[in-house]
Amino acid sequence: MKEYPVQRAAALKPLPDPDMLVFGKTFTDHMFLMDYTAGQGWHDGRIVPYAPLALEPSAMVFHYAQEVFEGLKAYRSPDGGVQLFRPMENVRRINSSCERMCIPQLPEEDTLAAIEQLVRVEERWVPAKPGTSLYIRPFVIATTPSLGVHAAHDYIFCIITCPVGAYYKEGINPVRIYVENQDVRAVRGGTGYTKCGGNYAASIRAGERAEEQGYAQVLWLDGVHRRYIEEVGSMNVLFKIGGTVITPALTGSVLPGITRKSCIELLKSWGVPVEERLITAEELFDAAEAGRLEEAFGSGTAAVVSPIGEMGWGERHVTVNGGQIGALTRKLYDTLTGIQWGTVSDPFGWTLKL
Ligand SMILES: *Cc1c(COP(=O)(O)O)cnc(C)c1O
Repeated sequence: MKEYPVQRAAALKPLPDPDMLVFGKTFTDHMFLMDYTAGQGWHDGRIVPYAPLALEPSAMVFHYAQEVFEGLKAYRSPDGGVQLFRPMENVRRINSSCERMCIPQLPEEDTLAAIEQLVRVEERWVPAKPGTSLYIRPFVIATTPSLGVHAAHDYIFCIITCPVGAYYKEGINPVRIYVENQDVRAVRGGTGYTKCGGNYAASIRAGERAEEQGYAQVLWLDGVHRRYIEEVGSMNVLFKIGGTVITPALTGSVLPGITRKSCIELLKSWGVPVEERLITAEELFDAAEAGRLEEAFGSGTAAVVSPIGEMGWGERHVTVNGGQIGALTRKLYDTLTGIQWGTVSDPFGWTLKL
């Protein structure tokens, strides 16, 4: 496996109190950097002290948002070891995002090696308290100083890491969501299936409006017909209706979540019928009003699963499972977190021990 040169930080930061971790605020001592230059390809991968990046104000990422990112976690297992969850899926997905954004693809094995080596260098930062982890944020930005609208010739691939606290500190509380009728997150032919900053920039307004009205998240509809459900906030969404789990098909405007994929694979292994297909808000609310909507939840790396307790769509309001987490949602949560933190066996070979 590829070994990158490491320039150690002169002084190491004190570790934060594991009870006080706020997501995405504290960064570790080191980061990974690799440069891309046209004609030369990706080169000079290295681990260096965490520090600001010096970029020209004309760097293309600032103007035309040629940028992609990923998000995954390193987990402390009971034996004191550290493990990753399906990290090659993140590497493949960043390359799929790169392809869409005309960013040169990363070498897959060497990119996984970079993630592994950085986490090993930052091992002491992987917290051990239940539910905590080290969040890993790989990203690529276009750095060519140019205002011409075309693909850049120069890029930086960077990986930063930050310790994160337990997502559910006071038990799993189902959230209230509402169907967003004005803004759309993505359209077919656009960039919805990629993890790019632009998708997030476009989604912030609806998220803020939802919060103002006392909702935790929005349920996104497709951008063409404004009928089909796509995602909830920045998570995939799954519904249990009449014994079958239904999740929006990956039509191009839905992000192919690794947690979503893992839920589907687990459910199938348990003999639960799963359908990946188009589902309208109307079908969902009709099912809820007929008492057939048994469970609803979002899925993503941050929360693993986030149960939905209440949904609004214009004048229609429904509660799901009396506002309580459903049994199948609970089982998925327990199984996935058990595999991720190494407290239950991993028959699928999803974890990678460092
Ligand atoms: C990252 C992301 C998800 C969840 O993907 P995971 O791989 O499960 O973390 C879902 N939707 C959007 C828009 C995302 O950016």
